[in-house]
Amino acid sequence: MSDDDGFISIRNVDKYFGSFQAINDISMNVGHGEFFSLLGASGCGKTTLLRMLAGFENPSSGEIFIDGQPMSQVPPHMRPVNMVFQSYAIFPHLNVRDNIAYGLRKHKLGRAERDKRVDEMLELIKLPDYGDRKANELSGGQRQRIALARALVLQPKVLLLDEPLGALDKQLREQMQLELRALQRTVGITFVFVTHDQEEALTLSDRVAVMSGGEVLQLDTPSGLYERPNSREVASFIGTMNFFEGKVTGANGQTVTVDTSGLGVLELPKSRDGLNAGDTIHIAIRPEKLDLADSEPNSGTKTVRGVLQNAAYLGERSHYFVMLEGHDTPIAVSAQNRYDGKLKAREGEAVWLAWQDEAAVILPAGS
Ligand code: ATP
Repeated sequence: MSDDDGFISIRNVDKYFGSFQAINDISMNVGHGEFFSLLGASGCGKTTLLRMLAGFENPSSGEIFIDGQPMSQVPPHMRPVNMVFQSYAIFPHLNVRDNIAYGLRKHKLGRAERDKRVDEMLELIKLPDYGDRKANELSGGQRQRIALARALVLQPKVLLLDEPLGALDKQLREQMQLELRALQRTVGITFVFVTHDQEEALTLSDRVAVMSGGEVLQLDTPSGLYERPNSREVASFIGTMNFFEGKVTGANGQTVTVDTSGLGVLELPKSRDGLNAGDTIHIAIRPEKLDLADSEPNSGTKTVRGVLQNAAYLGERSHYFVMLEGHDTPIAVSAQNRYDGKLKAREGEAVWLAWQDEAAVILPAGS
């Protein structure tokens, strides 16, 4: 499997609804066998893009290729794709077997082959004894598994999933995420998955396209998005992030010197090109990359003194908020509650923040 071999290739695609532009010049590739997610807030265009892959909408300009074939003249039912929706589109009056076999009947497959494929699917979704159950006698999670089986039994090259776990409660949703991931690995076909839930996208995906306003802001692996966001918008959409304003005061081939609000002057590895003295940037640091101590740490890290504003005990971890001189928003710190190193400071008392150089991500200003 390659993660970028262009099994699905979206090239310069625009989509207008009247004068409203829902998709703005998107180009990207999805690899064969990849679990690929479109992630973004409501209205960013994820469903529109998915519907164009399915053929329910056509691009206003640009072209979509699947497995090397241009899709512009191919109607939905002739495309090598199948779609699973949030509302499980299964027939309540049919039993589980007939629901799964529904598409196969339309493809005029012989009875023996049909039964074999349905049995395989029942095994795959771990409901081998449920064939005779009526669809309306199933739980939400079971119904969604049947909907998946019904789509997969047709052996599409690509499965499109539009918030398929959206209707499930949190616990079942988390369980289904693991099952969906395992199922995708087993069948090995390409999944394109739409969600507005960043945790879900990170848990499931090989790569994620973060969308906003009809554009792709960043396309990366889950860890790439989390550790190396390319903009403030992506950094704040994925998890929690502390931002500091900074001015570049010096730059050479390897390092940049940045005068920051709150963290003082930092010398950092030059992580992006085109940084020059005088540039305004942002420094971003994740809460768990900051250490909190009652006294100034001895060495090895950068430190700054602050005042503990707030502490919340959450069992396995604690969340702290720390005010720094010269910085107007509290800094979030997340620490695991181990036996050692418990913070003694009370709210209003002095604490020390410490971090490693690599924790600081340099982001362009205005991003
Ligand atoms: P959600 O998570 O709420 O489903 P989304 O990211 O999937 O959001 P889309 O459904 O792709 O968003 O919609 C993108 C934009 O295009 C929205 O502003 C929406 O109102 C608009 N839009 C979608 N379909 C149509 C349509 N048929 N006619 C007019 N505007 C549309």
